[in-house]
Amino acid sequence: MYKRKSIFWQLFTSHLVLVGFSVLAVVWIALSIFQQFYYSNTADNLTVRSRLLAGQLSRMIQQEKYTEMDRMITSMGKETGTRITIVLPDGRVAGDSHEDAAKLENHGDRPEVISAGKQGIGSSHRYSYSLKQYMMYTAIVLRGEDGVLQGFVRTSLPLNGLQQALLAMNKKILLGVFFIIILTAAISFWVSQRMIKPLVTIKQGAEKYAAGDLEHKLYTDGSEEIKSLADTLNMMAVQLKQRIESSEHQRQEQAAILTGMTEGVLAVDGRENVVYMNSSAKQLFEVEPNWDVGKKIQEIIRDPSLHAFIALTLVSEESTTAELKFYKNGEKMMRVTGAKIKAANNTVNGAIIVLNDFTQLHRLETIRREFVSNVSHELKTPITLIQGFVETLLDDKQLTRDETQKFLKKIEKHSHRLNAIIEDLLDLSRIEQLGFDKLEKKKTGVFEMVENSIQTCMSAYRDTQVSINNSISKEMQAGLNQPLFEQALFNLLENAVKYSNSKTPVVVKGGREKKKNIIEVRDFGCGIAGEHLPRIFERFYRVDKSRSRDEGGTGLGLAIVKHIVQAHGGEIAVESTLEKGTCFRITLPE
Ligand code: ADP
Repeated sequence: MYKRKSIFWQLFTSHLVLVGFSVLAVVWIALSIFQQFYYSNTADNLTVRSRLLAGQLSRMIQQEKYTEMDRMITSMGKETGTRITIVLPDGRVAGDSHEDAAKLENHGDRPEVISAGKQGIGSSHRYSYSLKQYMMYTAIVLRGEDGVLQGFVRTSLPLNGLQQALLAMNKKILLGVFFIIILTAAISFWVSQRMIKPLVTIKQGAEKYAAGDLEHKLYTDGSEEIKSLADTLNMMAVQLKQRIESSEHQRQEQAAILTGMTEGVLAVDGRENVVYMNSSAKQLFEVEPNWDVGKKIQEIIRDPSLHAFIALTLVSEESTTAELKFYKNGEKMMRVTGAKIKAANNTVNGAIIVLNDFTQLHRLETIRREFVSNVSHELKTPITLIQGFVETLLDDKQLTRDETQKFLKKIEKHSHRLNAIIEDLLDLSRIEQLGFDKLEKKKTGVFEMVENSIQTCMSAYRDTQVSINNSISKEMQAGLNQPLFEQALFNLLENAVKYSNSKTPVVVKGGREKKKNIIEVRDFGCGIAGEHLPRIFERFYRVDKSRSRDEGGTGLGLAIVKHIVQAHGGEIAVESTLEKGTCFRITLPE
């Protein structure tokens, strides 16, 4: 992967390169100017020397005093350290201060000679192969008094001085450049570090923010831009923190609402994977608390009707509702509502399903319906009978007095029955309304209370041969509402007498068990078949309807007993064996 250069190195190297190039450029320009100046100075110097000799030389050439001329330039050349060469117009060398002129080749092609031929003066510098060193040459034209070209005088000097001066200067300049670069590097390092430091601080701060430490504050002393960047980042962190806190707060609130809801809530994604379940839903479907989020609904809840409902919700535009039956710990009735969750771009993100358990409500509703129909039925029977007797009495005018009397007796019996049913119903609703909290109770001797109930029962069933045996201890006491509890005992004793054989007794026992008061009413009569026992305390439930009616029963007696016992904070249970007898056992708190 391409490795990005750090800003520090970019700044540092660019500074260095820039300064290095600038210094080198300046040095190069200075050196060239210096060299140029030195060349032109030497050239001028040589020209002056040539001009001094020009007149004399021109005369000598005119007079063709070549040997004398050669001698003169040799001695002058030695004295001044200058090489003097006399070149004739055709390029032949007529004299040379340092060489034998006859041996020298034609000098007509030398650049300084050529330009002197054209402009009267010329100069050039180059390496001389004959002298094996750099030389500076100048040539001026020699003309006679008549202006006729007589040749050129060329003077030259070695450029060793310049080379040495340049070398010495180069050394100093190089040293200077070296120090400048070192200084620049140091300054650049320091400046770059200074510039980079606040950026590094900001980078570290941003890393802390990314790691979740939004409390961190950035302090920088950098430039204005960096300072404002740090301020912006600080502001961003504060806002981000506030947003995170508020969304966390919202999330917790939602979680608390969802957890506290009695309704089950579950959410699925577009592929029917369960992404959320609140505690009520988990309880409802008996899902482990550490269930795997993201599993298919089919793996978590095995209920085809719910699967179908979710599939329907995911494709429906409107919210969906249905009443579904689940079989978890018995039958459960659920009112299910579903709504699609849509993403910002309108694609389906999933669905949210709310399950409302209305099993209890459904049960109560069923009980209410049954109760109404039972009451109607119970009331209808005596009313129909009474109507029938009344119609007979009205229609049949030939009835004897005895017959009329018989019908009227029947009417009286059924109207008593009607009254009994209505009174029992009123009793029931009164006891229900009283409840445990409102019921007035006081410590009462249980023995006396049982005695009272026995007497009431015996006066109601004078003809019975069944005896009732009270074996409760006289000391036994319990917190009771006397009239109501006597009624409960009466109902139990009445049933015991009604459903006993004439010879068998009814026994009432009492005692304390595990800090509770127990009262038992036992008979040795016909008993109740096992299948009826669970329903025996329901309103209007009777094992043998016709026998119960004959005995004047309303089917509400045991329901009243149960409600009275419950209003006392107690419980009632029944044990019975067919043809052996029945035992009702009341347990009361202290
Ligand atoms: P009922 O007015 O018909 O007696 P109850 O609510 O008192 O109504 O009793 C419900 C039914 O329970 C009765 O119809 C009867 O069949 C049965 N039952 C109640 N007590 C006894 C008992 N001691 N022995 C046998 N059956 C009983």
